[in-house]
Amino acid sequence: MTTAKSFYPPQRTLMGPGPSDVNPRILQALARPTIGHLDPAFIGMMNEMKHLLQYAFQTDNPLTFPVSAPGSAGMETCFANLLEPGDTAIVCQNGVFGGRMKENVERCGATSVMVENEWGRPVSLDKLADALEAHPEARLVAFVHAETSTGARSDAESIAKLARKHDCLTIMDTVTSLGGIPVKIDEWGIDAVYSGSQKCLSCTPGLAPVSFSEKAAEVIRNRKSKVQSWFLDLNLVMGYWGEGSKRAYHHTAPINALYGLHEALLMLREEGLEAAWARHRLHHHALKAGIEAMGMNFLVEETYRLPQLNSVTIPAGVDDAAVRSHLLNDYQLEIGAGLGAMAGRVWRIGLMGHSANKKNVLLCLGALDNVLCSMGVEINQGAAVAAANVIYHNEEN
Ligand SMILES: *Cc1c(COP(=O)(O)O)cnc(C)c1O
Repeated sequence: MTTAKSFYPPQRTLMGPGPSDVNPRILQALARPTIGHLDPAFIGMMNEMKHLLQYAFQTDNPLTFPVSAPGSAGMETCFANLLEPGDTAIVCQNGVFGGRMKENVERCGATSVMVENEWGRPVSLDKLADALEAHPEARLVAFVHAETSTGARSDAESIAKLARKHDCLTIMDTVTSLGGIPVKIDEWGIDAVYSGSQKCLSCTPGLAPVSFSEKAAEVIRNRKSKVQSWFLDLNLVMGYWGEGSKRAYHHTAPINALYGLHEALLMLREEGLEAAWARHRLHHHALKAGIEAMGMNFLVEETYRLPQLNSVTIPAGVDDAAVRSHLLNDYQLEIGAGLGAMAGRVWRIGLMGHSANKKNVLLCLGALDNVLCSMGVEINQGAAVAAANVIYHNEEN
């Protein structure tokens, strides 16, 4: 250990499935002085954070706060609190993250009914309706709004409507959707939702915003059994994050990380949700024009394709890992590999949060163009950046 010294990470451009580029304003916020987590100034910041999160989620739910752990812990918080042993939950799977939901259901001692959908496509409403008919004992429907493993968006509003018709609560994963495409918790009637700090919110990883409807909070308060996880038990956490003067110690909040999330949410509110969604759309269109000009294709159909997560089919015969390592070493650019069943088949180009900008799009297209040409792949050399610029030019005029 005598050779260990301070760690200075390389400066990268992050265009994978998360983390995304963190705005310097957020990094500066992280470096502000640490204060006590029961300091009145900190509590004031926590209350403000709740309102900023309510805006991001478009909800009035009082039970809205960031779990002190990454997106996966947000997922676990929802399942662990809403399910009890013996319950049945319907899990819609159309990619990697639905599989993790199944794991969560089963580890709560509940039974999962899987609604399997083709990867790269949205959740089928017909299949969900059939599962709800066949399983009147189900209490809950869980689904991923924006599947990061494929880049497909599911119809959250219709899924929630179907679930409600069958008296089921809903759990929605918005880790990749929040801040990138419309997420409207109250309008859609979602009961439990979780997200992550490092995708379209462009904060550092490690925090999971969650929100629960009054109906969900009631279910949690009236549980027959204790939540199996002490740390994630919302009956205990509510005493810490709940509004009001007496805030009981539960765990030490990740104080500086919360400064960062507060700044990220403030920036989202300053920009405005509609403007943020429009920005993600614009840069997706520019990237798409460039990718298609090179002669490459997208995995997911345009109608339900996520602008913030672009799965591009790897051309036949191209060495996936070699391309990504060229991009990283020669251009300091990170793009994502395929996950699960998509490994080796697609690249996942993220345009999340602060990463959704013109400079990144043009860098990515130019770098891909150069790397693929240098490897002898037949693409239309030089066409990508020009095609993206046409989109930007039209936008500016
Ligand atoms: C990234 C991601 C998660 C997990 O978040 P972590 O912060 O990595 O734990 C869960 N669901 C989806 C859809 C994601 O994209």
